[in-house]
Amino acid sequence: MVAGSDLVSPPDQVSLADIIDFLPDAAFVVDGDGRVIIWNRAIERMTGVARGAVVGRADFEYALAFYGKRRPMLVDLVREPALVATVDYDYLQRDGDRLIAEISVRDQTSGAIRHLWGMASPLFDADGKVTGAIETLRDITEQLQDRERLRLAAAVLASTREGVLVTDASGEHIVSVNRSFVELSGYSEAEALASSPRLLQSGRHDRAFYQAMWAAIERTGYWQGEVWNRRRNGEIFPAWLGISQVRNAAGTVTNYVGVLSDISQVKHSEAQLERLAHYDPLTALPNRLLLTSRLEHAIQRAQRQQGRLAVLFIDLDRFKHVNDSLGHPTGDALLRAVADRLGQRIRREDTLARLGGDEFVVVLESIERPAEATNVAQSLIDAMAEPFQVGDGRPLYLGASIGISLYPEDGEEALQLLRNADTVMSQAKAQGRNSYRYYTESLTRAANQRLALESRLRRALEREEFVLHYQPQVAMADERIVGVEALVRWQDPEEGLIPPDRFIPLAEETGLIVPLGDWVMRQACRQMRQWRDAGLPPLTLAVNLSAQQFAQPGLAEQVAALLAETRLPAGCLELELTESILMQHTAHGQASLDALRALGVALSIDDFGTGYSSLAYLKRLPIDKLKIDKSFVQGIPDDRNDAEIATTVIAMARNLRLRVLAEGVETIAQRDFLHAAGCDTYQGFLFSRPVPPDAVCVLCSPHPGPQGQD
Ligand code: C2E
Ligand code: MG
Ligand code: MG
Repeated sequence: MVAGSDLVSPPDQVSLADIIDFLPDAAFVVDGDGRVIIWNRAIERMTGVARGAVVGRADFEYALAFYGKRRPMLVDLVREPALVATVDYDYLQRDGDRLIAEISVRDQTSGAIRHLWGMASPLFDADGKVTGAIETLRDITEQLQDRERLRLAAAVLASTREGVLVTDASGEHIVSVNRSFVELSGYSEAEALASSPRLLQSGRHDRAFYQAMWAAIERTGYWQGEVWNRRRNGEIFPAWLGISQVRNAAGTVTNYVGVLSDISQVKHSEAQLERLAHYDPLTALPNRLLLTSRLEHAIQRAQRQQGRLAVLFIDLDRFKHVNDSLGHPTGDALLRAVADRLGQRIRREDTLARLGGDEFVVVLESIERPAEATNVAQSLIDAMAEPFQVGDGRPLYLGASIGISLYPEDGEEALQLLRNADTVMSQAKAQGRNSYRYYTESLTRAANQRLALESRLRRALEREEFVLHYQPQVAMADERIVGVEALVRWQDPEEGLIPPDRFIPLAEETGLIVPLGDWVMRQACRQMRQWRDAGLPPLTLAVNLSAQQFAQPGLAEQVAALLAETRLPAGCLELELTESILMQHTAHGQASLDALRALGVALSIDDFGTGYSSLAYLKRLPIDKLKIDKSFVQGIPDDRNDAEIATTVIAMARNLRLRVLAEGVETIAQRDFLHAAGCDTYQGFLFSRPVPPDAVCVLCSPHPGPQGQD
């Protein structure tokens, strides 16, 4: 017989007791008189009171020790419902018929406070009359502790100075940020929650960086390091970032927590420390430590590029004397002034360092020839020549002695190069101040010779110790002289005639080529005037023009004035330029060419074939003539390469409607080959060497012999 009500109520009290006995929560039941009728196993464990001591009693004396002064809630439900509000519970709430409370009790054995959550509910009979009550109790001490821990954690999170961000398991969505994060990043909480952690990325790290970071997190559950982040306002800042993986009890990743702190300040002081460690506080120049490391890097680069570098070890002359007599403050000011002046004489890519005292070092990177170091050394010495004015304004005279070592010749390591430069600096000082010396003696000698040559050249220019020789240019067809090329020689009182190859390069390096070139052109034009006046047939006068002369502003005007002064038609003057001058493609160059051309002066390309002319470019230039370089003429006719190049150049020139002259023709075979290939004119030892002006007159007379003198 099964009735609906039978399903919800237990068949008898024994079964009910059984069920309640197995509940995990502590539970007991009283009847309508408040007498305990069920006391389950869980409450026995919780209270330490055995069932036998309780069942049948209504006084609750048994429970006083456990409950303190309180009565169990259910007693109120059964007997004195009106008193409920007066009972002293931690927290009490009525929910329909039920009472719910939190109760704190003292554990009898450990003495610790435990927190219980209790619920009491009346039991009714079929007529709705209260027949008793049931109360269950649950120990929520740990739950409360967890809750407190969470609250604390939240408080810590909110107040910590580190920015904290939590993402979901994908690491893609931010699920929580703290206040510091908002302050640090500039993003509001709402903005952050709508984004991925990528909103912080500065773009300064590559993919590999993030890949390595995530790999570490996957492997160890943690990563920390320095990163560059970007704030909402675009500002990039350095941060220390720690990322941890959070797993649940089952071991599944649920979140990632990132903690980041702004380390701009730290970085700033690091930078200051780094300055202190690497720079000389007096002059703000790199100190020995930084110099050594830069030198090491420079050496590595030079090694890779098979380049050269120079170390200049500089020691001031007379500094000690100034320092001792005028005092240290003046000495310091003087050192700063010296550092300033030296710094102005070097290129940006070079390093000027102060080793301490009055010792400075310059590292010249990627130099091509030792002579470049000579130039800088001389320039540094010159920089010291002007008196200094510090302190009381009295002029102070210093000087500098410089030792130079070169990589790779004088050492392959930084310290060795420094030591060698130092050694020769002392020798330079001992030998007389204001001088420099190379570690390799031959270089010192070469530098000294060059220096001597330069001053001799200056003097020669002042005294006009130069002469011009002229080499005839003749027509292939009939060996008639059509022009002459002016070639300069240095008439040295002691050494005799010095050929141009020995002084033109130095003149070009030192800028002396400009006054020298002016002299040549003027002298040649005057000579031409004399020849004309003497009744020589009209010849073209070819004059070599160096790059620096060509770069002079007002060149065309100067030439025009000279032609007017010497009453020569512009058409008789031909200027020889090199391919490299023409290939520079500057606006000024083009204007210069046009202006000369407008004057009526002819332009030719000297040493054609040795540079890198582009044909297309050549076509656009106002050029009249190509001079095939003698190096191609030399092998003709046996060397097939030379023969082919010469033939091609001649054909090309004719195509471009340019005239061609072959230089350096020494044999009849060469002449005949070139003539057959279509070349108009030549110059060379076959007809005549360059000769003094008087000899030109002889050559031009009706029956000249086919040889000259030099
Ligand atoms: P360049 O302008 O190519 O002059 C031709 C050079 O070839 C001259 O040497 C001449 O003596 C030499 N030469 C002529 N015929 C022959 C030959 O058949 N065989 C050989 N082996 N050589 C021959 P030089 O006079 O010693 O001049 C050398 C260079 O010096 C000139 O080459 C030119 O570049 C430069 N130079 C000479 N005078 C001046 C000048 O006044 N100004 C400038 N800027 N450079 C000049
Ligand atoms: Mg020439
Ligand atoms: Mg030439």
